[in-house]
Amino acid sequence: MNIVLLGYPGSGKGTQAKAIAEKFSLLHISTGDIFREAIAAKTPLGLEVTGYLSAGRLVPDRLVLEIVKAKLASVTKGLLFDGFPRTVEQAQGLDDHFSARDQAVDAVLFLDVDEQEVVQRLGNRRTCTKCGRIYNLISSPPLNKDGLCDGCGSPLLLRDDDKPEVVSRRLSVYKDQTEPLVAYYRGNGNFYSVKGGSAPAEVAAELAAIITRRVKA
Ligand code: AMP
Repeated sequence: MNIVLLGYPGSGKGTQAKAIAEKFSLLHISTGDIFREAIAAKTPLGLEVTGYLSAGRLVPDRLVLEIVKAKLASVTKGLLFDGFPRTVEQAQGLDDHFSARDQAVDAVLFLDVDEQEVVQRLGNRRTCTKCGRIYNLISSPPLNKDGLCDGCGSPLLLRDDDKPEVVSRRLSVYKDQTEPLVAYYRGNGNFYSVKGGSAPAEVAAELAAIITRRVKA
């Protein structure tokens, strides 16, 4: 089973992807995490993409597809894509990759959240600098009194691209380049829109129910 999670930055894709991947034993592929890890490790890929991330712009399709296909080359389990595809060209590249292997995107799960809500969420999002665990200062703050990560004790940071000026660029990039994917995937019979504004556990339960139905179909 191959699943694509779609939605605005801040719609909860990262949080939900971790839960779904674990529950259904899927390989979680977050292109954002791949790029952030490469930047932190100062690899050639990291140096190439750092300017795009800090400006809130998309990394070019050619490079994204190259990275994702290299990652898929040796994978045999089901996949959960988070933050990919982000353009129609990437979606076509993924479809071509799958159809050459008698596979397909089996479900597209769209987390539908208002723009105002995502702006508020991104401003309150804190990410662990070490393990990547995601918190929200209002709805899911760390239990640790000093504001450190509950999982690994490392400091939590506001991502550079969650700062207000970059957030507004990311939202307009989303509307121009990623939103057309809703039309691309809708109508395939495997597109599911879920209200992403509810509590994370409720959203997770709804997503799990959809996937379970798809697995049984
Ligand atoms: P994310 O963590 O998914 O919000 O991604 C953070 C940043 O990484 C984005 O704002 C882009 O600069 C870059 N990025 C992540 N995934 C993609 C993708 N599929 N295509 C282009 N750029 C991406």
